[in-house]
Amino acid sequence: MVNPASGVVVGEVAATSLAEVDAAVGRAERAFESWRKVGPGERARVLRRLAGLVDAHLEELASLEVRNSGHTIGNARWEAGNVRDVLDYYAGAPERLTGRQIPVPGGLDVTFHEPLGVVGVIVPWNFPMPIAAWGFAPALAAGNTVLLKPAELTPLTALRLAELGREAGLPEDVFTVLPGEGSVVGERFVTHPAVRKVCFTGSTEVGTRIMAGCAAQVKRVTLELGGKSANVVFADADLEKAAATAPYAVFDNAGQDCCARSRILVQRPVYDRFLELLEPAVRGFRVEDPALDTAEMGPLISAGQRDRVAGYVDGAKVAFTGSCPEGPGFWYAPTVLLADSPADRHWREEVFGPVVSVLPFDDEADAVRLANDTEYGLSGSVWTRDVGRAIRVARAVEAGNLSVNSHSSVRYWTPFGGMKRSGLGRELGPDALHAFTDVKNVFIATEE
Ligand code: NAD
Repeated sequence: MVNPASGVVVGEVAATSLAEVDAAVGRAERAFESWRKVGPGERARVLRRLAGLVDAHLEELASLEVRNSGHTIGNARWEAGNVRDVLDYYAGAPERLTGRQIPVPGGLDVTFHEPLGVVGVIVPWNFPMPIAAWGFAPALAAGNTVLLKPAELTPLTALRLAELGREAGLPEDVFTVLPGEGSVVGERFVTHPAVRKVCFTGSTEVGTRIMAGCAAQVKRVTLELGGKSANVVFADADLEKAAATAPYAVFDNAGQDCCARSRILVQRPVYDRFLELLEPAVRGFRVEDPALDTAEMGPLISAGQRDRVAGYVDGAKVAFTGSCPEGPGFWYAPTVLLADSPADRHWREEVFGPVVSVLPFDDEADAVRLANDTEYGLSGSVWTRDVGRAIRVARAVEAGNLSVNSHSSVRYWTPFGGMKRSGLGRELGPDALHAFTDVKNVFIATEE
């Protein structure tokens, strides 16, 4: 493992072999038999204790993430806090996982939300802690056992969370972290028949293959994939606020965010003014040592990612850039590109770095058409003072998470997920629990 801010090695973690994955699946399968029978109140207590332990270790987890992932300390604290909150929220679920009683002649009909069994959670490197928790917390609450594969580059916080899980009282083999290769560990979650569900977050390319693999066994699957979200700014918007917040909506986590609003659509009459206001906001964006409290953006995850990002900027029309430190580490300055047309590569593809493209539009219909002209549909923002238009456009944009006069997408108690090729299923919120259960209907005859 390498510190992305310095290039210095921060640790080594052994990759799990295929035989070890199979052994872990076997143990998780056996642990499921007893974990599913643990009373709802006790399951809730263990999860609540784990939430408390995460809170007590918040600084430790956050600084581990800064070292392993290059996240700013402010973000990393939020991420560890999010794990705590997600655990706390789903700790309220076991006692509320109620079925129904449905009127039928000749007996009693009831439904149960049965846990699935062993759930495999596959996590990318961009938000190692929250994305792990969005899978394992509801899965455990519903009575499943969990095998979690962190990304190759960022396994450290997940391994620490599993240790805290044991300390909180999760029985052995109920929650196991298996670091290693996607093509070995992740792939085995897909092919092993005893893994009953795969909860995958990552690229659309790998997610598509996972869905095809799961189809062979009709395996349940949740997919949270890529994005190319639009930030639509109408002429009647609070332009100062829209311009001041736009950098945070795309450069947060160095743009390595599936929800990044990486396409800014600006209505033509205010296009020049918006860019004028955007420039100082981008130039003032603080890109520095992520361990500093003042840091707003750190480095990219790896040299490879930096090269990939630079490839999108080469030959494109650069409006202006911010700054970044020189020297070791995988730094890239925030960059604003002007799109010539919606056919530009940087306008169409997910850059997954601190690069945003800007394009003018004419009217509401044009804005909706351009916003939807993408295979993705994860999130988006609409800036306008016209309430009717805000609602019309938010309803018309094909994305799972829209915000009006704001860029917020993630709250642990509201649903999160994508439309189109951005994913399948929803995480977080009141319904995510059901994605880790199957409904069983039982009819009990009362006839003598
Ligand atoms: P990736 O798809 O390369 O890897 C994601 C995870 O899948 C890693 O743990 C990897 O080891 C594993 N993996 C790779 N090949 C596999 C295989 N054949 N079988 C099973 N597992 C395999 O993605 P990445 O580069 O780590 O992450 C970036 C991508 O994730 C971006 O496209 C981003 O948009 C997306 N993402 C989406 C969300 C969301 O919620 N929608 C959130 C974060 C990131």
